[in-house]
Amino acid sequence: MMVMPELTFQSNLCCYLWDLVDHGIDDALDRIQGETGVTGLVIDLHCPPLEQIRPYPGVLPRTFRTQGGAQFQSEPVCYAGTRIRPVVADWLRKRNPLKSVVDACRQRGFRVGGRLTACEHPVIALRHDTAAVRDVFGDRSTRRICPINPDVAEYFRGLVDDLNANYGLDSLRIGQLGFAPIHERPQCGFSLGPIESWLWSLCFCESCRQLASRDGIDMDAVSKRVSATLEQALQTGSCSNDMPEAFAERHPELGAFLEWRSQQMHNCMIALRRACRCTLLVEEHAPSIHSGLDVRAVAHAYDAYSIACDPGDGGAQAVERAVRDALAVCEQPARLALRLDAGQGCPDHDVLVAAVVQAARMGCHSVDIGNYGLLPPVRLEWIRQAVRFAHREAM
Ligand SMILES: [Zn+2]
Repeated sequence: MMVMPELTFQSNLCCYLWDLVDHGIDDALDRIQGETGVTGLVIDLHCPPLEQIRPYPGVLPRTFRTQGGAQFQSEPVCYAGTRIRPVVADWLRKRNPLKSVVDACRQRGFRVGGRLTACEHPVIALRHDTAAVRDVFGDRSTRRICPINPDVAEYFRGLVDDLNANYGLDSLRIGQLGFAPIHERPQCGFSLGPIESWLWSLCFCESCRQLASRDGIDMDAVSKRVSATLEQALQTGSCSNDMPEAFAERHPELGAFLEWRSQQMHNCMIALRRACRCTLLVEEHAPSIHSGLDVRAVAHAYDAYSIACDPGDGGAQAVERAVRDALAVCEQPARLALRLDAGQGCPDHDVLVAAVVQAARMGCHSVDIGNYGLLPPVRLEWIRQAVRFAHREAM
């Protein structure tokens, strides 16, 4: 099902659920509404391990720490087709405040969006041996899970289904769908070149090996090529400066594997589209030779494309450049959402105002401004001005 993105410009404030809960849900939402004027919130629904210093007085603990995980209690029936179950974040224990937050947002007329990181999923990578990405030597990632593993793909579908069925979100952003250039940086006595880093990131988990072989890919030849190239670099400490694309062209067995992988990622994206009953946004990712996902080829399967833009890199000009580049993928500004950080990357109020106004002026779908719980409270006023001018511009 294709959901048309909203036609009017949306301004969203990115929030972590724990900040809304620890500030008091009503107090936090009243403050956000009164002091920023944004039209919606975007809440992270699955987080990696993190630590954050919280600037608001009276909010305890001042340094918040979490091992990460799902920011909601899962509904088991949504995961009947997979061995993987969401791991609920440690700070929640038995609580499930997401529904109360969504209801309180509705009462205030906010739109509510969610954000899920897909393959960067340490709590699952550590718990489910077969779900983790594995390199050619059989070593598993402690951070990333393989979307080609049918249990993982079904788990993603279950998450989307669970969130749609039980929380009634207006939109869902999916980040980190696919593979990453280098998923960990172990100590190494020399610098890996671009080819070696890339070959090391290719997944040879049991599912990738079995399913690719079933579909006629010569996985013995692929793994021999990859391991021989890496062994040579390890022996000599010298790496070529060649790029992955050229290497794949020279080795057709590897090219065939990449094409197969790309088709699997395409299918994964289509399955998420089918499961998602609200506006679906996909965040930009590494180039497809690394991620496996060609966001341009699969553009019909999502409603809007979400890209990060650093407002400190020139304010309005930074936005203009980012939009121009992104149009090569999503074609229309109305299908483009910008993520702007009002924190470290943003030097002053004028820069934020110029960036948000430029996004509205260029006809973007929305801006997601980060992040409520991390920003010094005086910056809410920066957001208020930016949002006010932008909505005026978008009318
Ligand atoms: Zn795999």
